[in-house]
Amino acid sequence: MAVKVRNVINTHARRLRIAGDRLRTHFGWHPDQMLRDVQMAYAGACVYCHSAFIGMPHGLHDLTLDIVNPTVQPYYATNVRWCCQTCNRAKQQMSPEAWGGRCAFWDAYRRHTKRPVQPSFWD
Ligand SMILES: [Zn+2]
Repeated sequence: MAVKVRNVINTHARRLRIAGDRLRTHFGWHPDQMLRDVQMAYAGACVYCHSAFIGMPHGLHDLTLDIVNPTVQPYYATNVRWCCQTCNRAKQQMSPEAWGGRCAFWDAYRRHTKRPVQPSFWD
């Protein structure tokens, strides 16, 4: 899982066009804390769709780091969440408000139909 954390830092640093060290020193992306968070997240479920990671088909690849609000700075403590790849792809650059509305809609749908969440709903 340490490799996962290193890859996540490097990938986001490239996307954000800042040095990985800056994510660590300025935005609080501390690998030790991130490793603990990855372990806890992977043992649980996606924060958005509530699907258990353990049942997802791609192992650790299904666990991704979402920048909650891409229009503000990526402070680890306040602006990132570990979520599944399907939700992260569906959310993309959506605002937190738009994404929250979509999650609330699907949550209400699941509760009404009592169906389990299927990742294909997010496509
Ligand atoms: Zn999800």
